[in-house]
Amino acid sequence: MKWGIVLSNRLPEEIRVFDTTLRDGEQTPGVSLTPENKLRIAKRLDELGVDVIEAGFAAVSEGEMKAVKLIAKQGLNAEICSAARGTIGDIDAVAESGADSIHLIIPTSDLHLEYKLKKTRVEILKITKNCVKHAKNQGLIVELSAEDATRANLNFLKKFFVTGISAGADRVVACDTVGVLTPEKSYALFSELRSSLDVPVVSVHCHNDFGMAVANSIAALRAGANQFHATINGLGERAGNASLEEIVISLKSLYKLDLAIKTELLYSTSQLVSRLTGIYVQPNKAIVGENAFTHESGIHTQGLLANPLTYEPISPELVGGTRRISPGKHSGTHGIRDSLEKMGLKPTEEQLKEVFLKVKSVGDKGKIVMDADLLAIAESVMGLSKAKPIQLQEITVVSGDKVTPTASVRLRLNGKEVLGAAVGVGPVDAAINAVKKAILEVEPILLEQYNVKAITGGTDAMVEVVVRMRKGDRTATAMGVRVDIVMASLDAVLGAMNVLTTDYNNKSQ
Ligand code: MN
Repeated sequence: MKWGIVLSNRLPEEIRVFDTTLRDGEQTPGVSLTPENKLRIAKRLDELGVDVIEAGFAAVSEGEMKAVKLIAKQGLNAEICSAARGTIGDIDAVAESGADSIHLIIPTSDLHLEYKLKKTRVEILKITKNCVKHAKNQGLIVELSAEDATRANLNFLKKFFVTGISAGADRVVACDTVGVLTPEKSYALFSELRSSLDVPVVSVHCHNDFGMAVANSIAALRAGANQFHATINGLGERAGNASLEEIVISLKSLYKLDLAIKTELLYSTSQLVSRLTGIYVQPNKAIVGENAFTHESGIHTQGLLANPLTYEPISPELVGGTRRISPGKHSGTHGIRDSLEKMGLKPTEEQLKEVFLKVKSVGDKGKIVMDADLLAIAESVMGLSKAKPIQLQEITVVSGDKVTPTASVRLRLNGKEVLGAAVGVGPVDAAINAVKKAILEVEPILLEQYNVKAITGGTDAMVEVVVRMRKGDRTATAMGVRVDIVMASLDAVLGAMNVLTTDYNNKSQ
């Protein structure tokens, strides 16, 4: 068989990864990236090892054109692509942008033809032929997408692709634009396309309206499709696109197929995309969610500490994540002992039991037990009265509409006075930056997560700030609760930093 796998119910040997975080992902409601932030994400995607980066939609705005141009001229390893509608103007915009390839999107379902384009099937075929030819004449690699392919007439869909391929299209994509495929239908559709089309690349493009985008993508690959479109964190319109990290890790772990993706960069890539787009990753998200490798239950942690495979299908290191055992009412003594030992504390059986009961009673009151709380409980139970390694002496924050938010802090760090001053985007950012400045040279601690919420309503509400910080392979969580958001933030940051710098093994402190 010319293209390798046909109807063989197994995966092609080579699967291309087409990332559309910066195009379909950016169409997520509320997301709009600047060209500079798009470039940061593109560089990271390139490092990750994707084959194609769809950088944007050159024709839709000046900013998009600027972003595609900026990314195209970097000389990245990945092929840089821009989306386009089936118009000469859109195609010329892609050619102008300097992108290597064009993702030409043309509707194919009668619903779209009738209500969106007001064109007949015959007219669409003519447009397709002309557009593909025009794009080829501009020297572009042509990736031809059938929009709403999964609701199109199958014979027409094949005719559409054959027309495009005859005109020079290099790859074809069947889009499940509204996410209505099932794995069975996906398998049948892509088997049919693969066996009837003479083209090097048949790609799948799935949306997650029924939560099946990843399963549908994998079903298509097993039917012989050899490229998938996906986004980091599954970003995209409505319920989003197929999630890149989920497909890559599923192929690797469940189907034993390694793609040329540096999986250990997936977690940090997810975090970068989340930060720059402002779209949080749900904690229970597969592969990159905060809870994917966090355990609280006592029954689980006991097994987990003996052998992580007991309750983890993959190791966190595979995606660059970290295993965390969080204290709480479901905790068992094993998990708590392990956490305390990481802080250098060696409680007796009796002390451990008391710490354990106190943690449970805090948890039973509906409160989250932070690592900082666990340390405080253990210190009081064990009668340790060690001074906190980091103590706040004074803080000044200046903020307003005609001043750059600036903060200065004076801290005691292991008995020595340290100073730090920094600016930020706002008073909280400035204050945390100042603390980091003061401490970073001595203690390389990173702020991994910062969440804030008002507990009560009103402008005088209590705010609760929860942070997670990292030092090497250790992480610590802490909370600050105050009416002043700057002070609540500092309490939380310093609380977590204190857990990470507290080491009862180190007698010199
Ligand atoms: Mn799409």
